[in-house]
Amino acid sequence: MNEFALIRQHFAKAIVNDDVALGIGDDCALLIPPSGKHLAVSMDTLVAGTHFPEGMAAKHIATRALATALSDLAAMGAEALWFTLALTLPKADEPWVGEFCESLLHFADTHNCALVGGDITRGPLTVSVQVHGAVTPNTALKRSGAKPDDIIYVTGSLGDGAAALAVLQQKFTVRRSSQDYLQQRFYRPTPRLQEGQLLVGTASAAIDISDGLLADLGHICDASGAGALVNVNRLPMSEHWRSSVSLDKALDWAVSGGDDYELCFTVPREKINTVEEWIRQGRLKATAIGKITANAGIFMVNNGKTLEFDVEGYKHFD
Ligand code: ADP
Ligand code: MG
Repeated sequence: MNEFALIRQHFAKAIVNDDVALGIGDDCALLIPPSGKHLAVSMDTLVAGTHFPEGMAAKHIATRALATALSDLAAMGAEALWFTLALTLPKADEPWVGEFCESLLHFADTHNCALVGGDITRGPLTVSVQVHGAVTPNTALKRSGAKPDDIIYVTGSLGDGAAALAVLQQKFTVRRSSQDYLQQRFYRPTPRLQEGQLLVGTASAAIDISDGLLADLGHICDASGAGALVNVNRLPMSEHWRSSVSLDKALDWAVSGGDDYELCFTVPREKINTVEEWIRQGRLKATAIGKITANAGIFMVNNGKTLEFDVEGYKHFD
């Protein structure tokens, strides 16, 4: 048995549900898709030194890799079912893999998503996760469904992800308590799976914010043939991030920092009451930040001043 075959055995501990006819160990897994549903499939790759700092602990790489992949299912309104994992390792480091595996499988269990297969190769540290989810046909939350006058919402808070990365890279420092909070936001972003599924039938479009609000709202606008007007003063920010820097900088990263993995979604006027009721009941943590416009372009209103942004984040002052 070679060293990687030994390591593979760590992954065979994955818990499976009764929708897995055959799990890890054979040439393929055999899966039982829920009848009448569409499978939602997405893949994400994290490369050491590019998508996370070199030397980040194995347990954190594991949760981040799965969380960012699950976030795409969330953005579609899909339920998580299974995932596969392609792991490229510089060497067969069993303690590293043991830590990675324990963290990965625990996080997977939390989100009811079973590891059903994968691959291990030698090379620069790279983690690819392919997730599979289920969604009722014609109900998925696509990017293309936004209409002029729909209200734009975001879940959770913005700016934490970019702030966390800067802290990890020691580009700036924050209070100890904020540092712990921000690092968790980077190590284990919460995929907004419940929120996404709740919004099926109510939201007209959705996307997860991985490249920053501006870029990702831009994708909704492009796909929907529309524009957006965002009230910057309404952007939700965590107290940890808000109190760490000047308001301008906090807002700047809330607008264009990436890595938040919150959902940005749009809601037609006639369904606003439903969403607002969920927010009041505490079923949904989301904030209305603006509206979709018929004209292309993303405009940000900040204290009465309107700034136009293009996708690269360049500002045109009016
Ligand atoms: P093959 O050579 O037939 O592709 P492998 O020896 O790579 O098979 O894998 C054997 C079994 O272990 C397969 O079921 C595969 O899905 C599983 N496996 C390999 N690597 C991983 C991994 N990183 N995570 C989960 N399962 C894995
Ligand atoms: Mg085979």
